[in-house]
Amino acid sequence: MNRVHIKTYGCQMNERDSDAVAAMLRARGYRIVADEHNCDVLLLNTCSVRDAAEQKAIAKAENLSARKKKQPDFVLGILGCMAQNRGASLLDQLPDVDLIVGTQKFHQVPDYLDNLRAARDAGAPVGETIVDIGEEVGSQNTIKDHLAPEPDANGAVERQITAFVSIQQGCNMDCAFCIVPKTRGDERSRPMDDIVAECRALAARGVREVTLLGQIVTSYGRRDYTHTDGISPFVQLLEKVSAIEGIERIRFTSPHPRGFKDDLVAAYGRLPKLCGYVHLPMQSGSNRILRAMNRPYTRERYKEIVDALRAVRNDMVFSTDVIVGFPGETEEEFQQTRELFEACNYDMAYVFKYSIRTGTPAAGLGDQIPDEVKEARNQALLEILKANSLRRSAALVGTVEEVLVEGPDKTGARFTGRTRGNRVCIFAADPRLIGMLVPLKIERASVSTLYGELVLSGVPDPA
Ligand code: SF4
Repeated sequence: MNRVHIKTYGCQMNERDSDAVAAMLRARGYRIVADEHNCDVLLLNTCSVRDAAEQKAIAKAENLSARKKKQPDFVLGILGCMAQNRGASLLDQLPDVDLIVGTQKFHQVPDYLDNLRAARDAGAPVGETIVDIGEEVGSQNTIKDHLAPEPDANGAVERQITAFVSIQQGCNMDCAFCIVPKTRGDERSRPMDDIVAECRALAARGVREVTLLGQIVTSYGRRDYTHTDGISPFVQLLEKVSAIEGIERIRFTSPHPRGFKDDLVAAYGRLPKLCGYVHLPMQSGSNRILRAMNRPYTRERYKEIVDALRAVRNDMVFSTDVIVGFPGETEEEFQQTRELFEACNYDMAYVFKYSIRTGTPAAGLGDQIPDEVKEARNQALLEILKANSLRRSAALVGTVEEVLVEGPDKTGARFTGRTRGNRVCIFAADPRLIGMLVPLKIERASVSTLYGELVLSGVPDPA
């Protein structure tokens, strides 16, 4: 009973949590396997952002429960946000689940599996489900291990070039539509020195790009560290990670517009490793709706931040999150969102139709917007986004972009990497260039992918 498969739903934070759980399990002697049909333990790391995400994981778990008849020792666990949100009530729908582990207890998974394994090895009957969704002081510090890549059949190890680093957990903003404060708890930051040590260790094993993760990264350390010369703890952290030899690029997600004070804007001008790609959740372009959402900024302030960042770097690339059809959103208010959306000229956007999340402040609001109106508003923004992305991609054709070579693409025939602006590129290359920053002449572009040829003069010989 030692082959474990982890299936992850949702965001990059969940991916990072799964990776840390996998690393902890491997250290305990478990094998992490890619094939969900050939495993002894299957862990679903779940998402609660929308009801549809929860329903998807529940349907999967129902399906997997049937496997217990053929494989009585099979262990099924539900981890993460849905486990936290629903707790033991999940057993009403999923009585065969063995493990329900919340977002502050990921590090307990190895112990719980050991206990289950010991009980079953001793011939004990399948016992009660283990449910642990408690809060735990310091739990944010437990997401620090990374699963090292395994050798393939020929003994070759694929080098890891990019990595996620969890810097903070939870959120205190209480946006009216958001379940995260309930599923992830209060804001808790990891010590700066621990994060820097983790990034150094990643650099030593070949990682060149780190993405700092948290539910509201721009609030990093605000209770634990003071501002120094007007520099916030988050920007202090960016400075320290920037100073690490071997780390060539830094990204972060998710920030809050409120965190983009002058010090962070200026950091883009003085920290060249900080990629010029900002995910800046707008949510709405209507000041009344922003207030109803409990988002403490205005459309004017939001645009001011975008303009300030573009003034520091004129090639700055933006992505965003927008919710259309928040309760009471009028056509005029939607048009304000549409105008701001057009004015910001995003490369990428996640547009969501508002859906009620039980347990959020907005769940009780009346004046729900009909589905067909939400759909029309959704489509209107997606059309603008598609036209923007195409126009911005077309403008890159003929230019030379700096690309970090990450490895073979899906076909294995070519290589893939990303620009500083986070555009995926496909190109022919030499495997020895993996991990290097190389100039790529862009020859062709689709909405989201650039195709090009390396300009190798001036690139040091990787041998
Ligand atoms: S800031 Fe982000 S994570 Fe926090 S409540 Fe608002 S939307 Fe949710």
